Formats: sequence, C-alpha cells, structure tokens
Amino acid sequence: MHSRLTPLLRHLNHRNHSSLLHLRPKSTLSPPQSHPQPHSQTLDSLRRRLAEDSPSLDDFIRLQRNEDYSVEVGTKKNPLPKPKWMKESIPGGEKYTRIKKKLRELKLHTVCEEARCPNLGECWSGGETGTATATIMILGDTCTRGCRFCNVKTSRTPPPPDPNEPTNVAEAIASWGLDYIVITSVDRDDLPDQGSGHFAETVQKIKTLKPTMLVEALVPDFRGDTACVEKVSVSGLDVFAHNIETVEELQSVVRDRRANFKQSIDVLKLAKEYAPAGTLTKTSVMLGCGETPRSSG
Ligand code: SF4
Repeated sequence: MHSRLTPLLRHLNHRNHSSLLHLRPKSTLSPPQSHPQPHSQTLDSLRRRLAEDSPSLDDFIRLQRNEDYSVEVGTKKNPLPKPKWMKESIPGGEKYTRIKKKLRELKLHTVCEEARCPNLGECWSGGETGTATATIMILGDTCTRGCRFCNVKTSRTPPPPDPNEPTNVAEAIASWGLDYIVITSVDRDDLPDQGSGHFAETVQKIKTLKPTMLVEALVPDFRGDTACVEKVSVSGLDVFAHNIETVEELQSVVRDRRANFKQSIDVLKLAKEYAPAGTLTKTSVMLGCGETPRSSG
C-alpha cells in the first residue's frame, strides 16, 4: 500500500523490525560522489536529508483530510471497481531477476518474500523512481514470536543461524554498490544471546568491506537485555532502530505478548546510552490498527 500513496507514505518504512536488510542505492540518499565521503560527512548529509525530507505530524494530519486518498467502495450488492493505484502487477523485470538470483545464490532471505509483501515487484524493479529496494532478513526466516500483523513463519525452535550469513550479506551489499542499508531480523528468543552477536558481526563485516556505508540496524527488543543491546550498539552501526509498532494501548492486541511499549522504549534509551556519540536512534509506528488521534498524539 505505501508505494501507491505518494512520496509521503514512502517514508513509512516497511515496519519490519527485526532482522531484515533494506537496501537503497546511492542515488536515494546522497548526490553521486566521485570519491567516497568521509564517514562523518556522509552521516551529516543523511541528517540534513532526513530533516528536509521527512514528513512531520502535520503532514499526516493533512493526509488524513486529503480526499485524494478516500476510496468509494460502493455497496455489497453494487461494489465499485478498485482504483488503479490499489492494484499491483506481477513481479518481473531485469532488476528483479538480478536481485532474486543473487539472493538465492547466497542463501539470503528477504522480508519482502517472507511477509508476502504485495509491493515486492515494484520495490525490486525500481518502481516509479527506478530505485531498486530489497529487504534482506538475517538470522533465518523463522521467528520465535507471533505478532498479529506479521506473516513471517514462527516456531519455538527455529533452525540455527547460518554462520556464513554475516559474510554473505556483507559481500552481497558491497557488490550491489549501495551506500545505505538497513539490517533487520526475526526475533530469536531461542538463542542464548538472542542473535545479538550475529547481528553485530553482520554490521562489522559490512563496515570492514565498505567503511563508508551507512548501516541501520533495525533490531528486536532482545527482551530488554542490556548486554544484547550494548553489543549491537557498539558494533559500528550508524543508526540504531527498534520499532514500537503501535500505540501503548494496543501493544497486547497487535504485538506478541513478550513485547511491550515500556520494554521497547527502554531498549531505545539503552542504545542512546551505549552507542557512540552521534549515532542516530529511530523508531516507527504502524497506523491503522485502531489507534485514535488521542492515543497516537
Ligand atoms: S512475528 Fe513479530 S517479532 Fe517476529 S518477525 Fe514478525 S513482527 Fe517481527
């Protein structure tokens, strides 16, 4: 849905939390560079771009009032045809094929496939902007939690993580010529360190292969475990992201019972404490789950 609701909604990242890899080609974040930028300069450029491009609460309120986004559905007896922007085409094209081949070669998972995202074809092919985007999921394709909005496979005992995954992910990213990535994952409550070591290793491998690349880690809540949060926070990432997913009142309805608002906020606070100065922290909320203007304000 987000891909059809104008550039404003494009800012609403695919929620997926946990261990996925979101890939953005160079052109989406900074002007083409003939020489690699120093790291701090690249991060400064990202900060400027976020300040200029990111929607504010007022943008969302305006969007709610904008009748362009109202859809007439007719009645049960006389349903109206769905608008064109609501329909997606079957995935295909050169970019889609290239990304899919590389992912299969390296045995990498994408949240796009695991979550059966209807926008997969457009994102992988570049869509209206020509910018191909994919989201790779690390730590396997099976989650130990069961959030109600999520279609990822779940199990109490998923297979162990692939020890080669951090290297494979780093090599794939480096070969695609990107300069900003988001790594996310499924939750791994079954592992002694909840996958935090694997996460940190993936970030480190990417930074070793391409030090100028900006890395966002979109992590699970690690059940609030301080050591896990610290491990990822000091791994060399540029952005520590963890999604609170929904407003406080709807946490138990929307998320797995092991997740909660306070725990997620505490994880973000811990990351602020442990991550080196200048590291960004970030969270996202899904709208449309039943929140009211009062609860979301
Ligand atoms: S079930 Fe919940 S924790 Fe697991 S991948 Fe889906 S959203 Fe993330």
